[in-house]
Amino acid sequence: MAQPAEQTASAEETEELGAAFARELRPGDVVLLSGELGAGKTTFVRGALRALGVTGPITSPTFTLARRYEGTGVEISHLDLHRLAGAPDEEDEALLEEEATDARITFVEWPEMGASLTLTRAPRAHVRLEHAGGDRRSVAIAA
Ligand code: ADP
Ligand code: MG
Repeated sequence: MAQPAEQTASAEETEELGAAFARELRPGDVVLLSGELGAGKTTFVRGALRALGVTGPITSPTFTLARRYEGTGVEISHLDLHRLAGAPDEEDEALLEEEATDARITFVEWPEMGASLTLTRAPRAHVRLEHAGGDRRSVAIAA
């Protein structure tokens, strides 16, 4: 799934990239998303979740760590580990262990803040987003 970095010029274009990417995902896949605050990680995930059939509001799970969604025939978990600041406690670790399952597609923002990141599965892809001036973003997807 490795692709050259692409540039987007708007949030809509980043959502479209997320939607196209989501078509390759299967239950059990874990997708990591890196990039500084406002780079567009949640925007990319929103596009992916829409393509997977999620209809209601899609907001960042900044304080809850995880949010679950029902897509079309697949369950999805959206994690944001920023709050862990690299030092998850036992409760956080337990929560992370349970999130990535065979039946679920799991998106993880700020994986580097999860320290040991006790997800039970190896990531399927790593998406890296960067500011590229104004509303432009560079989006690189590595397998
Ligand atoms: P993150 O999850 O990385 O902190 P968000 O997706 O929550 O970032 O926020 C990105 C913000 O930048 C949103 O307000 C979005 O509308 C805006 N934005 C502007 N241009 C883009 C773009 N090309 N791609 C993604 N988001 C963009
Ligand atoms: Mg976010």
